[in-house]
Amino acid sequence: MTEIDLDDLIENLMQCRRCGICRNAVYEDRGFDGVCPVWKNSYGFETSFMRGRIQVALALLEGTLERTAENAEALFTCTLCGNCTEICAAEFDPTDCLEKVREVLNEIPNDVRDELTKRIMEYNNPYTESGLTKRDWTAEVGFEIPLKGEILYYTGCTAATKLPNIAKSTVKILKAAGVDFGVLADEPCCGSVMLRTGRRTDATLNAEKFAERMRDEGIKKIVVTCAGCLNTLREDYPKLKVNIPEAKHVVEVLPRIIREKKLKLKPLGRDIKVTYHDPCHLSRALGLYEEPRDLIKMIPGLQLVEMETTRETAMCCGAGGGLRSFDSELSKRIAADRVKSAHTVEAEMIVTSCPFCEHNLKEGARKINSSVRVVDVVDLLAESLD
Ligand code: SF4
Ligand code: SF4
Repeated sequence: MTEIDLDDLIENLMQCRRCGICRNAVYEDRGFDGVCPVWKNSYGFETSFMRGRIQVALALLEGTLERTAENAEALFTCTLCGNCTEICAAEFDPTDCLEKVREVLNEIPNDVRDELTKRIMEYNNPYTESGLTKRDWTAEVGFEIPLKGEILYYTGCTAATKLPNIAKSTVKILKAAGVDFGVLADEPCCGSVMLRTGRRTDATLNAEKFAERMRDEGIKKIVVTCAGCLNTLREDYPKLKVNIPEAKHVVEVLPRIIREKKLKLKPLGRDIKVTYHDPCHLSRALGLYEEPRDLIKMIPGLQLVEMETTRETAMCCGAGGGLRSFDSELSKRIAADRVKSAHTVEAEMIVTSCPFCEHNLKEGARKINSSVRVVDVVDLLAESLD
């Protein structure tokens, strides 16, 4: 595990020029404002966007502000969406720095973060303490799914427990395409939320356990449907010096399978207007902008339209960085704001490729009584299977 150099971190944070464009920049070529989803959907305080968070972080790190849970609150009301990093012209990455600050200051009490960590370490998922099994959904797909296979479909905690449709659709597609895959019993958690909230020591132990399980099961490749899982397995595990087999998101795998004509697709309708919500962990974090759009365009009957903020500048769904647990109301307001963007372009559906985004966007749609359908791209593809 690479240690964080405190002097380095402070020096990086000092790069902030306090320009404030991470609050409400207007992109000249696009003409919109409101870069930070938290600032846009809260009450205008300086600490609700990155410039203010950096000042709080520096004061806590340098000891001019007492290290209390209350004083550290601004560090956690952030989705780590990376929108500020995208526009910041200074010589540092503010989002990455904030994640590091959370880790350096992890002795400051935070009940929400500690409860999430406890559940993952004890029960392999951040959602519940009860006898939940992440493989229950397999009983409803109508065919046997092996426990082993060279390719692992790693379901992830959110699809397995909250949105099993995504898991069911994925295995139907993989089976129809003739892919030899398995789904583990007692699937381990990738530990994403522990990394995002500053519990890196626990996350490293968890990642080592994850890697050991992959070795024991003889897994050669991993396919996921969750943007957060992919970012963790692909970007964070190497930084923690934990080796696992290559991991890919289904949106990276399926377009080729369709081009090779291994799936027969029927039209879902005629010119159904859909828009795509970029999950921050898949898009800004990993650069996967075109793959999910390619997949949508391959499903007959859909017409893809873009929201005002899209790709590199897309607004977040509001769920990331632990915000959904730290402040669920704020998180839902951000989601509702994203749903309104889909209304503006008259989309009938918001298609995404992350169960965590889908879950929160559905909450946002409920909050404003929107009839827009929020759906994962694999669900549409499964519906389109001939
Ligand atoms: S984080 Fe970057 S964009 Fe935001 S105030 Fe500092 S220098 Fe400006
Ligand atoms: S990472 Fe996103 S939510 Fe956090 S301060 Fe930057 S723009 Fe706002």
